[in-house]
Amino acid sequence: MARVPFIAGNWKLNKAPSEAAALAKALKHKLADRGDVTVAVFPTALSIQATLQSIAGSGVGVGIQDISVSPRGAYTGTNSGVMARALGCTYVLVGHSERRLYYGEDEAKVSARIRAGLDAGLLPIVCVGETLAQRRAGQADAVVHDQLAGALVGLNHDEVVKLTLAYEPVWAIGTGETATPAQAQAVHASIRSWLTNAYPAYIPNQMRIQYGGSVKPSNAAELLACPDIDGALVGGASLNAEDFAAIVAAAIA
Ligand code: PEP
Repeated sequence: MARVPFIAGNWKLNKAPSEAAALAKALKHKLADRGDVTVAVFPTALSIQATLQSIAGSGVGVGIQDISVSPRGAYTGTNSGVMARALGCTYVLVGHSERRLYYGEDEAKVSARIRAGLDAGLLPIVCVGETLAQRRAGQADAVVHDQLAGALVGLNHDEVVKLTLAYEPVWAIGTGETATPAQAQAVHASIRSWLTNAYPAYIPNQMRIQYGGSVKPSNAAELLACPDIDGALVGGASLNAEDFAAIVAAAIA
């Protein structure tokens, strides 16, 4: 079954509100003819409102890069999924390798954030991926399967099918190193077969698995041509409207 491609831009801790508004405005213009490709951007929380205002009417979704596991309360310095949804966010990123590395997000925390996101009415993009040492030790598939098992525990089928997965080999994020299409396709196929073993067939057929790790206009087409790669999670190249639009263009059938 053909899946509609999904291209997401993770702006990380970049783009102050005025810059985010300018980038969103440029994207609105450049992404006007994108067929049925799903597109979303993830500004830093302080720039979400400016992005939403500039991108309104384009059909491009906006997401938040992380949420607290609690919708409200005494949790200084965090952001609420319920409030993000009220503001106009559609998506939440969960389990990004930078969150795992710098903020100690283990499987339990990832799973709790997926729960909080779904409860808030947000659609999570759940990131998984191995380190270079794990790949060299031949553990890429096992690591990703363990991350999936830990992240998806306790979700019912209706909830699992709402998720998007992102395979992001840690060694390829922000490094300029990209997994070859064959390397990426192999792990995507192994994720899909893990899903096939765990869930009824409609779930692996419908769920989109994005590839992330130094995706750019020059490599997007060959990655997106792989049968189990259903889109991309783009960091650095999503900060430039022209580059991001070129990646979206590569996803148009
Ligand atoms: C990311 O932030 O998820 C990412 C893949 O970054 P980059 O494209 O810069 O490697």
